[in-house]
Order: sequence, then structure tokens, then C-alpha cells
Amino acid sequence: MKNIYGITIDELEDYLTSISEQKFKKDQIFNWVYKKKIKDFSSMRNIKKETLAKLDEDFYFGNIKLVSKKEGKDVSKYLFKLEDGLTIEAVLMYQNYGNSLCISTQVGCNMNCLFCESGKLKKVRNLKASEMVMQILEVEKEIQNRVSHVVLMGIGEPFDNYEEVVKFLEIANNNKGIDIGARHITVSTCGITPKIIDFANLNTQVNLAISLHAADNETRDKLMPINKAYDINSLIEALKYYISKTNRRVTFEYIMLKDINDSKEDAIKLAKLIKGMNAYVNLIPYNETSAKLSKTSKEDVLKFYDVLKKQKINVTVRREFGEEVLAACGQLKSKYEEDK
Ligand code: SAH
Repeated sequence: MKNIYGITIDELEDYLTSISEQKFKKDQIFNWVYKKKIKDFSSMRNIKKETLAKLDEDFYFGNIKLVSKKEGKDVSKYLFKLEDGLTIEAVLMYQNYGNSLCISTQVGCNMNCLFCESGKLKKVRNLKASEMVMQILEVEKEIQNRVSHVVLMGIGEPFDNYEEVVKFLEIANNNKGIDIGARHITVSTCGITPKIIDFANLNTQVNLAISLHAADNETRDKLMPINKAYDINSLIEALKYYISKTNRRVTFEYIMLKDINDSKEDAIKLAKLIKGMNAYVNLIPYNETSAKLSKTSKEDVLKFYDVLKKQKINVTVRREFGEEVLAACGQLKSKYEEDK
């Protein structure tokens, strides 16, 4: 039996053909599942009984259970229990442009970035596409409203779970189903370059963000072990390919860490590295974790910002969200594990 929330519309079409049903029924089924949000096949009134019986034999409506919720002013954090008892988190941010949900892609993460709490929770397994889909559906049910934007920036490295992530993107984007526009979805990666190439070749409009955090290999090696496998040069090369292939702008995420990557020289190095690329830099205030790192002062963030601006680099400073609900990557889950 397969979880219906993990089936793309093309897979559903193949399935319908295999049971000698007309393939256009896939749209009706998607409509029942995602628009009418029914939870059992017998309510699908425009599908014939024999087909419903087959569907009922081969598919089930999976679920993830909301086990804890923390609500702040403009952010809510959700902890879910998966069918096998493992837990994951998602964070909803109420932005002026809509409801943006940050979802997890793995249980734990093997990338081990120095500043990130999720890295402390070694990867247990990849999430299935269905488990990413269900994070959206559960949050929509909880807020009685639509999720308009999705970012794959929760726990996990999306490109270390490439196939299920791509499947998820298809399901979330399909206009007969959840229907979140590709340009409203962002995948964030620490820089697994072969997968950036694959992603470029997908030719999707889904946004790509890169966790860069340093403009030289020495610093980046210390912050992000992945840099030892795929260094900055190979990363930039892959991104240039991505940009030439898709014509899309890339976002560089850059956490500001006091005395580590926040000097004027660092800003100049960064500007030099990405000059001429169709890209912009998002400066991220560091959310303090158990790591021995400190955040750059607001003043120094602005100085860094000014240097980039002068170098004609597109740059923004990310608004700080949800400190009061421990919304930094991985924090709710590690807190939950501690409390247990
Ligand atoms: N593995 C993916 C997605 C998860 S991390 C990636 O590396 O991009 C999502 C974003 O949160 C990344 O930019 C990451 O660097 C950032 N992040 C992690 N820990 C953080 C912290 N303590 N403070 C601020 N941002 C953090």
C-alpha cells in the first residue's frame, strides 16, 4: 500500500491506465484529495465503484500527528510525529506576502554545519515526498488557511534526498492539487554540486538558495564540512551553469558570525566571488545555538551590507523570526528530545 500523498499526478495516470480506468480521472482524484481534502476513497462520487475498490486496496491516506506547537507573534513552530514514531518540525512565518512554511526534508542531517542545531541530530532517514506534502496539509488544517509559500530550509539537506524532494516539488506545484506556484517554492542547499547540476537540468522555476556563509575555502571548511567535498570554486561553477540554463536568480544565504566571516575584507571577498552573477545575498542574523559562535552586531551587519552595496551586489538583511519560539533550524526538536 502506498501513501496517496506521495503520488505524483503522472504516477496516478500510469496507475489508472494499469487498472484500465480512464486517465483523465487523475484530475478528479487529485481534486478530491487536495481541494476537497477528503480522507477516504468512498467519498469520491464521480469515480466508479470498481476503481474506488482498487484505489482502496493499493493506497491509503497517510497522516502525521501534530505533537507540539509553539506560537509567537509572527511565527508558529510545529513538531510532528511520523508514522514510525520519529519526529520532525516545520515553521510557519506570517510574512506580508503570505503564509510561508519552512519544512523539513530529513530526520536529522549529516551535513554537520558548525552553526546548525540540526547537524547535532545525525540523519536517521530521508523523508518521503508524502511526509513533506503532509507537513503542508497539516499546517493548512491547523491555521484554516492556505500555505502560499514553501521553503525547504527545515531539518535536513534537500539535495541529500534528491529524488523524494523532486517528487515533492511536483506534487506541491501541481495545479490540480496543492497548487503552490514554483516561484513560491525555494530549495536551500549547503552546496552538493552534482545535484545542483541535476536541478538545473530539471528546468523548473522553483527557486534555488545556497547556504554559502563564507567566501573563502579556509573559513567555509571550518563552518561547513561539505566544502571539503565540493569547494567554493566547484560550487560557483555549478551555479553559473544553473543560471545559464534556467535564467533564474540564485540566492546566497550568509549567516553573520562575529569575527569569523563579518569583516570588511570578507565582504569584499564575497563581492568579488559573485560579481556579475545573477544572484543576491541574504544576510542572516545568527540564531544562537549551543555552538561557541556569536552573532554579528546589528551595526556591523549594516557595515557589511554597505560594503556589498558599494560593490553593486544585490543584498538584503533577513528579518529575525521567532526567537521566542526557538525557530532556528532544529531547535524545537532538540529541545523536545531534551525534555523527554
Ligand atoms: N541543508 C539546507 C537547508 C537547511 S538549513 C541548507 O544548508 O541550506 C536552512 C538555512 O538555515 C541555511 O541557510 C542554514 O545555514 C540556516 N541556519 C542553520 N542554523 C542557523 C542558525 N543557528 N542561525 C541562523 N541560520 C541558521
